[in-house]
Amino acid sequence: MLLNHPPPYPNEAWSSWLWRLAQRNYVASPHELLPSTLSQTKVPYEPVVFRTLAELTNTSVETLHAHTPHRFSRLLHPPETSAAVLALPTQQPLTLAPLHPNRDFFTSRFGWCPVCLREVRYVRLHWHVPLVVGCVLHACWLLEACPVCTAPIREEEVLRGRCSRCGLALEQAHSVPIPPDDVLLTLQREILEWLYHPEQSQLGLSHVPVGVLLRVLYGLRFAVQRAGDDWAFHHVPFGIPVPQRDILKQRSLTVFERGCLYATAYRGLLEYPHGFYRFLDAYRTRPAPREKTGLRSEFGTLYISWFQRFWKHPAFDFIQQAFNDYLLEHLPVYQIVNTTRVRDYPELLNRVRYLDLAQTAQYLEISVKSVYRLVEETHLTAHRFPEDPLGVWFARDELEGCKQRWNQHVPFLAVVQQLGLSKRLTLELLHAQLLRRVPAQVGLKQRGVFVERDSLQTLLNRLKTVTTIRPMPEPGIPLRLVCIRNGSVKMDLTHVLTRVLDGKLLAYHPNASLLPLTALWFVPQTVQDLAHNVKVESDWVTKSDVRAYLSVHWRVIPVLLAKGLLHPVMSLGQKQFFSRQELHSLHETYILSGEIRRTLGIPAVFIHYLVEQGIWSVKTEHRPGEPYIFERLQFQHWQQTYIMLPELKQLAPDSAWRTERLRQVGIFPIAHAPLVYSRKEVMAALQPNEP
Ligand SMILES: [Zn+2]
Ligand SMILES: [Zn+2]
Repeated sequence: MLLNHPPPYPNEAWSSWLWRLAQRNYVASPHELLPSTLSQTKVPYEPVVFRTLAELTNTSVETLHAHTPHRFSRLLHPPETSAAVLALPTQQPLTLAPLHPNRDFFTSRFGWCPVCLREVRYVRLHWHVPLVVGCVLHACWLLEACPVCTAPIREEEVLRGRCSRCGLALEQAHSVPIPPDDVLLTLQREILEWLYHPEQSQLGLSHVPVGVLLRVLYGLRFAVQRAGDDWAFHHVPFGIPVPQRDILKQRSLTVFERGCLYATAYRGLLEYPHGFYRFLDAYRTRPAPREKTGLRSEFGTLYISWFQRFWKHPAFDFIQQAFNDYLLEHLPVYQIVNTTRVRDYPELLNRVRYLDLAQTAQYLEISVKSVYRLVEETHLTAHRFPEDPLGVWFARDELEGCKQRWNQHVPFLAVVQQLGLSKRLTLELLHAQLLRRVPAQVGLKQRGVFVERDSLQTLLNRLKTVTTIRPMPEPGIPLRLVCIRNGSVKMDLTHVLTRVLDGKLLAYHPNASLLPLTALWFVPQTVQDLAHNVKVESDWVTKSDVRAYLSVHWRVIPVLLAKGLLHPVMSLGQKQFFSRQELHSLHETYILSGEIRRTLGIPAVFIHYLVEQGIWSVKTEHRPGEPYIFERLQFQHWQQTYIMLPELKQLAPDSAWRTERLRQVGIFPIAHAPLVYSRKEVMAALQPNEP
């Protein structure tokens, strides 16, 4: 048990405190103070050691922890490892520093500020951190050794206040001031925040853990020391001898070297990301020898060691993203796309403004040959960069436009698959314009049938508004059957769908997507009379209507069809429908031999004779057994001009008188077989009161 228990000073280093304990208890060295089992280690790690030391110093485990490197465990652990937690019941979990911290971040050596020692003689914990090169309280550089005899200064000398070799009063030592507005002083304040109050960081990167910021600063520092001594971006605070800044070998650095390198590096973190971009800009102008090509040439060790190796943990994403942004903004595309970086950050390719030939082909999912064809057809424009004479590049905007347009073009087979219809039925929909085919000249693809995506979507959407979603019950009739059945009458798909779209036929489907379309089904009653309903609605007539209307024999109808005088508007299997309007106009335009026979009261053979004699001219070519077809107007005119025997007999039933009368007035038939007279002459002769 110790007699005296001096408490630690604010931020006093554990080793400094131990020395004071030893002195106050009249012991020569802390080694004699500690139990033999603990003497080898300078920093406590084991719970039992923590507890023993807390008892020995009459303080808490927490107090002990706050004066050891463990206090900076957040900073000392790289993001790849997580800090171990001290296995003791403490108010807050206490994390432990690595057993062997990076010597650039914490060492057993320390710097010191003579003015601070003038206030209280002890070693501040942060003086062990090599990044701490100055005292922010007194705006001066720390001293690292005795300024007179260059002997290293140890804890007991700080406490005594004298260099043990030359006797210099340490408090009287001269330290070099740091100008109050110097960036080094800003850095020193920032480092102290990182060490003691990370939440008070002034960098504006509060989302980034300080341990990560420290390692970014560290990487930038290594880049700085390989930039070349003449690099204009180097920062050297006023008042110190310019240190060497081109340091290629690993060695311990002087306080001035560290100060200058870190201050320069720190400029890369200011006003993030602008300072970072300025840093990169400047780095690309560094005088140091370079790699031959590419990003290695532009960014040297910063790229090779840091961006591509040490900053790969996701915690460094913020700086990697900023670097990618910089590359895209400042480097020509041909320097980016073929780098290993693209392999690690494929999203870079998604952001470059130009793609090379191979990438263009890959992006468009076509062959290189097709790319050239598109260029020839002026669908694409090839770009070239003077510095990259062999490369052919394509603007991403343009490619995206192409891809978007192409994306609207669905290959025919894909539509067939999606709808679940046969190729023939899908073609039917294209012909009926229910789906739109992509015209060949606007389609960028050379071969194949493509369908406009929106026409497919429109068709489905329109059907959705009129279709009820319901699974098909037993008596339901699927679309396929409707097209075949309906009283063994075949109704085509277009007609069925059009009726559904027009709200004339209730449709059902088990899926809200309406896919596959073949699963569309109908209630039996609604499709039973489909053909009949269609006929009535459209004012269509059947063959038998035609026959009745024209008063012709069944066999006449095929003749009219063959001669193109009658057209079916719809064929449902054997059944054909005709437009009533066409039938009317057929009747008005033409007259068939049957009607003539009835009108004139003559036998069929007379018509044949008249045609043979060239008295009547047929409208269409006549084959034996077919009816004669004449123009109705022509016939009517003939009938007004001439008269035949049956009518003559009606006008003058007395055959002997009639013959005598005509002979008297000198009227002779203009044809004999059959008899044809001039109507005008005959009528004049038969007037009863003729004088
Ligand atoms: Zn000071
Ligand atoms: Zn000395």
